[in-house]
Amino acid sequence: MSHPHASHAVARDYRVTPLNVYWEVTNACALACKHCRAMAVPTPPPGELTTEEGRAFLRSLRNFGDPLPNLVFTGGDPLLRPDLHELIDEAVGLGLSVAVTPSATPRLTREAMGELAAHGVTAFGTSLDASTAERHDAIRGVTGCFDKTIAAAGWAAELGVPLQVNTLVARETEADLPAVAELVKTLGIARWSLFFLISVGRGAGLEPVTASEAERILSWLADSAPSLPFVVSTTEAPFYRRVLLSRARAHGASPSARAAAPSGAVRDGHGVVFVSSRGEVCPSGFLPTAAGNVRERSLVDIYRSSEMFLRLHEASSFEGRCGVCEYRGVCGGSRARAYAATGSAFESDPACVFEPRAAAAS
Ligand code: SF4
Repeated sequence: MSHPHASHAVARDYRVTPLNVYWEVTNACALACKHCRAMAVPTPPPGELTTEEGRAFLRSLRNFGDPLPNLVFTGGDPLLRPDLHELIDEAVGLGLSVAVTPSATPRLTREAMGELAAHGVTAFGTSLDASTAERHDAIRGVTGCFDKTIAAAGWAAELGVPLQVNTLVARETEADLPAVAELVKTLGIARWSLFFLISVGRGAGLEPVTASEAERILSWLADSAPSLPFVVSTTEAPFYRRVLLSRARAHGASPSARAAAPSGAVRDGHGVVFVSSRGEVCPSGFLPTAAGNVRERSLVDIYRSSEMFLRLHEASSFEGRCGVCEYRGVCGGSRARAYAATGSAFESDPACVFEPRAAAAS
């Protein structure tokens, strides 16, 4: 998830500091979602960062300096981490803004969410992949998940904690998206993010939409967004910013690229970084190639100086269409999808229909 409070207003240099650090605090989860990138298991596997290692990792984030990145505790299910409150206390004490993405299981109660809020959590994230219990629970693999998600949205609203709802975009969910939009309108959420499937983990069993379908969905999203009572964003579809910019220009506006993305593109490994439950540092949760491990090298050093991240920070180093695209500064394509499709994180994003002028000319 993005952090619902994620402030793009503060200009950041994403080569230096990410907007969001995602920490997979555990790989354990009671759900069995069809698109789980983590291939989560019911009990924590051996080798996860210990409490002390986790605290040391959190302390190391201070070395990013101001503005600090936002921190998202993800999983697996963070509620299955016995020391979750202790880790949140450490992070909040360090001045980090903390979001949590609990899984919609019986552990998720109003009391559990209230405790997280009391410990200083400033945002929640949850997933809603369909407009009906039958469809959503079929994707999540557990009956009751839909009802719990709707209840959790109500508790977040009661607690006054902003909620981000994430919705899967795949062949299996595509036709239902307008109905999901109508449903989330009733939930009082802060942000709705459409996650365009990456075929990794269990997600390899679902079918992604084609590039032309993705374009049609993003066009519908751009049409709908102004009338929706929450912020709309995408995950693993950064070319939504190209869609917004080109539409604004077609309507006579001349927005600069900076207007669409004040700090430039946020994409895997640039503005976003993921730390696995074992401490491996990856560009995102959907791009499972580690550039190092926080047990051996600081996240700050890996993010700023490792060979992989140095290249991910420079869209001009990408290959194919994304490397020559006039929108690469605000987009750059999904590096995770390029990797899933080609084995190279630097190739073109196959879900984007755009033909850059330079590519067309060559
Ligand atoms: S070609 Fe690549 S950089 Fe250009 S808009 Fe599409 S995904 Fe973005």
